[in-house]
Amino acid sequence: MRKPIIAGNWKMYKTIGPAIELANGLKREFYKIEPADIDIVLCPVYTCLSEVAEVIANSNIALGAQDVYWQDEGAFTGEVSAPMLKDAGCTYVIIGHSERRQFFAETNDTVNKKIKAALKHGLLPIVCVGESLAEREANKTFDVLTGHVQNGLVGLTAEEVARIVIAYEPVWAIGTGKTATSAQAQEAHKYIRDLLVKFYNKELAAGVRIQYGGSVKPENIEEIMAQPDVDGALVGGASLKIESFSEIIKRGLKVKVKK
Ligand code: PEP
Repeated sequence: MRKPIIAGNWKMYKTIGPAIELANGLKREFYKIEPADIDIVLCPVYTCLSEVAEVIANSNIALGAQDVYWQDEGAFTGEVSAPMLKDAGCTYVIIGHSERRQFFAETNDTVNKKIKAALKHGLLPIVCVGESLAEREANKTFDVLTGHVQNGLVGLTAEEVARIVIAYEPVWAIGTGKTATSAQAQEAHKYIRDLLVKFYNKELAAGVRIQYGGSVKPENIEEIMAQPDVDGALVGGASLKIESFSEIIKRGLKVKVKK
C-alpha cells in the first residue's frame, strides 16, 4: 500500500505574512488528519521557508522547497543548497518542475545532479516529469517520459529511487485550467511505473509514489486519485487558498483511505 502524498507548490507567490497566514489556516484544517494516512507537503518560496517551518512544527504537515542546487556551498550566487534547505526545516524538495525546465534551462542532467544532492543530505525529492502539448500531439509522450525518468534517475540505486516521489505533470495542463483526463493520467502513471520495473525491479516500482499535477482542483481530485497508479497530487494554483487546498486534501484522502 502506497501512502498518498499531496503537495502544494506555492510557486513565486506569497510574502512572509500571507504565507504564515495560509500555513496557519491549513494547520487548523488538518489537525484531525492522521499523519499515518497521508503526507501533506507545503512548498513556499525560499524567503518563507523558516517562518512556515515554525508554523507547521509538530503538525502533520511537512515542508518542501521548490528547487535546490547540487553543490553544498561555494561561489554560486543566488543558489540554495540541500544542507541549507535541511537547516531551514525542509523534508522534501521539488526537482525538475516544468517551469524550471522551460524558463531556467533545467535539463535531465541538472535534475539528476540535484536528486543526488538532495538524497545525499536526506531530503526527499519530488521529481517532475511530463510532456508538452507539441510532444503529446506528435505522439512523443512516452518517449519524453522515458527520457525524463531514465536520464533523470541515471546512476541511482534502487534504495535511492525508493525515497523519490515522481510527479507526472503534463506541461499543457499546468496553470492552464486543462486537466488530463483520469484515463490519460492513469496511462502515463502506469507507463512510468513500468519504466521503474524495467530499470529497477517490480517490488521497487510497486512502492514508488507517483503524483499527478496539472490544474488539480477540488472538482477533479477524486476522479484522478481514484486511478490505481495515482498516489497523490502536486497542486499549484489551488494550493494558494485554504478552502481549495483543504478540500483537495479531504477529498483525496476520502478516495484513498477508506475507513
Ligand atoms: C504545479 O505548479 O506543479 C501545478 C501543477 O500547477 P497548477 O496546479 O496551477 O496547474
